[in-house]
Amino acid sequence: MTEESKDYRILLYYKFVQIPDPEQFTAEHLQYCKDLGVKGRILIAAEGINGTLSGTVEQTEKYMNDLKANPLFADIVFKIDEADGHAFKKIFVRYRKELVTFRYEKPLDPNVIGGKRLSPKEWHDLLERDDVVVIDGRNDYEYDIGHFRGAIRPEVKSFREFPEWIRNNLSEYKDKKVLTYCTGGIRCEKLTGFLIHEGFQDVNQLEGGIVTYGKDPEVQGHLWDGKCYVFDERIAVPINRTDEDVVIAKCHHCGKTEDRYINCANPVCNKQHVCCTDCEEEHQSFCSDECREAVLGVKA
Ligand SMILES: [Zn+2]
Ligand SMILES: [Zn+2]
Repeated sequence: MTEESKDYRILLYYKFVQIPDPEQFTAEHLQYCKDLGVKGRILIAAEGINGTLSGTVEQTEKYMNDLKANPLFADIVFKIDEADGHAFKKIFVRYRKELVTFRYEKPLDPNVIGGKRLSPKEWHDLLERDDVVVIDGRNDYEYDIGHFRGAIRPEVKSFREFPEWIRNNLSEYKDKKVLTYCTGGIRCEKLTGFLIHEGFQDVNQLEGGIVTYGKDPEVQGHLWDGKCYVFDERIAVPINRTDEDVVIAKCHHCGKTEDRYINCANPVCNKQHVCCTDCEEEHQSFCSDECREAVLGVKA
């Protein structure tokens, strides 16, 4: 695959750092982003910033330089994807109590407690061992589109369900070498701190997440199966750049192995789902008979 240089970029980034007066910073940052013309979703809390946005090469370059010029974010790491256009329709900059919502009673500051950070190469080599436990730190629907080979499927619909799911299902692995991963790394920052509090002895996390792993020139996404779910209009992006790229998602209707995503034709539902071309025609792009009936008023 040749990397042509494109006119737009998509940035993904986070930084855990104490932000004084985060609500004021949120208001200023929103105005700044509007003036600059970038689009995306940015969350700001007293504990830091987490964002993904799109813009032209010039806009995103200025955004990165401006953010790094703020001493709070001088060492922030940006993951950069090239794109043909914006990946978001609007700009949202929102204040939140927490950057990632996690239902846990103890404070989890990644600057104080967290797993050992693994480079893509270290992660890859550990993944080939059979005495490690690999926990996918995302939601079940993300796992179903693509995941690391051998990873445990998380039975959670949202991140806040992790503490309960882990206590009920993974306690037997407390003495094992545990590896966690997520899209860009931010969820692991909380998840690994939680695992350590819970008594897991050897907790490790993929630094920079799946996105960084896929860009690493040495590992080239090896041992990743399927695609990586992303929270922008691309829906899913390729990770494994070796010749063993495997499709693992299945058509929502017929179960056939398939890799294309559509939105439900019922605007109230609009559910993203995997759908083969035959089923798209047969079901008229609706995700369910209920949605077809809601719009067309007839039973299938
Ligand atoms: Zn189908
Ligand atoms: Zn629907």
